[in-house]
Amino acid sequence: MAGENGATAARDVYDVIIIGSGPAGYTAAVYAARANLRTLVLQGEETGGQLMITSDVENYPGFEEGILGPELMEKFEAQARRFGAEMVARNATRLDVSSQPFRVYSDNKEYTGRAIIVATGASAKWLGLENEKRLQGRGVSGCATCDGFFFRGKDVAVAGGGDTAMEEALFLTKYATRVHLLHRRDTFRASKIMQQRVRQHEKITIHPNVAVADVLGENGVEGLVLKDVRSGATERLPVQGFFVAIGHQPNTGIFKGVLEMDAVGYLKTTEYTMTNVPGVFAAGDVVDHRYRQAVTAAGDGCRAAIDAERWLEAQGEVDLTKTMDPGEWGEARTILEGGAENV
Ligand SMILES: Cc1cc2nc3c(=O)[nH]c(=O)nc-3n(C[C@H](O)[C@H](O)[C@H](O)COP(=O)(O)OP(=O)(O)OC[C@H]3O[C@@H](n4cnc5c(N)ncnc54)[C@H](O)[C@@H]3O)c2cc1C
Repeated sequence: MAGENGATAARDVYDVIIIGSGPAGYTAAVYAARANLRTLVLQGEETGGQLMITSDVENYPGFEEGILGPELMEKFEAQARRFGAEMVARNATRLDVSSQPFRVYSDNKEYTGRAIIVATGASAKWLGLENEKRLQGRGVSGCATCDGFFFRGKDVAVAGGGDTAMEEALFLTKYATRVHLLHRRDTFRASKIMQQRVRQHEKITIHPNVAVADVLGENGVEGLVLKDVRSGATERLPVQGFFVAIGHQPNTGIFKGVLEMDAVGYLKTTEYTMTNVPGVFAAGDVVDHRYRQAVTAAGDGCRAAIDAERWLEAQGEVDLTKTMDPGEWGEARTILEGGAENV
C-alpha cells in the first residue's frame, strides 16, 4: 500500500499477486507460497472458479472415486493456505503496470506486487434461459469433455454452430444414443471438415433454424422446447442432456489496453507463460481456448508460478537460499547445503 509520501514500503509489497481462485490460481499459489514467495491471491467474489457450479468431477487425477467440484476447490484453497498464501475474496478492478512494483486495485484498495499471475478464467456463454440456469449440473452442461460420460445410453442435444459445437457433438456420440445438433441458422460457422464429419455421423441429427425456447424437467433435464425461427412453431424434443456450445468469454475486461489479447479477449503469452508485460504471467482458461480442463489449468498455474519465481530471481528480487523452486530443486538444495561451487 502506498505510504503518505506516495512511496511503497517494502514490507507491503507482495512477491506475487495472483488474480483468480480457480485451479490455475490456487495451483500457482501453492507453488509460489511453497517457494517462500510472499503471495496474495485476489480470489474474486466467486471464489473457487468454474468447478463451484458442477457436481461430480471424475477426471481430476488422484480422486479415483471422483470428487464434487466445490469439495475439490476447498482442497485446492486449503493446500495454498497451508504454505502461507494470503487470500482476499475480492475482485481486481484495475491493473497498473506502468511502474514497479505493479499495482492491483480492488475498487479503492491498492495491492502491490513485483510479479502478477492472471488466472481469471473464462465463462461459458449461456442462452440466458431461467430453466437452463436452474438445471446446470443436473443435465445442462457447458462442457462435453467434462460431463459426456454421464450420458451413456441417453439422448442429448447440443446448441451451437461453430467448431466447438461440432466437436462437442462428435465427442458425445461416444456415449449418447442420439445427439441432436441445434442451430439458429441453416448455415454453420464451423469449418467444412468438421461440418462434414458431423453430417456423416449416423448418431447425429441436425436441426437447422431452431432456437431453444425452454429446458424442461424438475430435477433433471427431460426435454427442450424448440422454436422454428422462421414459422414461430414450437415442438418438444425429449432429451436427458443439454450441452450449450455457443462459446466462452475470457474474463479479461479489466486488462484491456494493459495486456495483449486476441480478438476474443484471450490473453496472449510471449515467453512461456509471460504476457507482453515482463513480470506479468497468465495461466489457465484465460489463455487456453483449446483444452479448458481443471488439470490443464492447474498445470498452467504451476508453470506460471515457476516462471514468476525465475523471473523474480533474474531481477534479483528473490534470495535463492530461501526459495525452493521445484524446477531447480537439486540446484537450490546444493546451494543450501553449501555446495554452490558444484552447481
Ligand atoms: C459446469 C462445468 C463443469 C466442468 N467440469 C469439469 C470437469 O469435470 N473436469 C474438468 O477438468 N474441467 C471441468 N470444467 C472446466 C474447468 O472448470 C475449467 O477448465 C477450470 O476451472 C479453469 O480453471 P481456471 O483457474 O483457469 O479458471 P476458473 O475456474 O474460471 O477460475 C477463474 C477465477 O478467477 C476469478 N476472477 C475472474 N475475474 C476476476 C477479477 N477481476 N478479480 C479477481 N478474480 C477474478 C473467478 O472468480 C474465479 O475464481 C467444467 C466447467 C464447467 C463450467
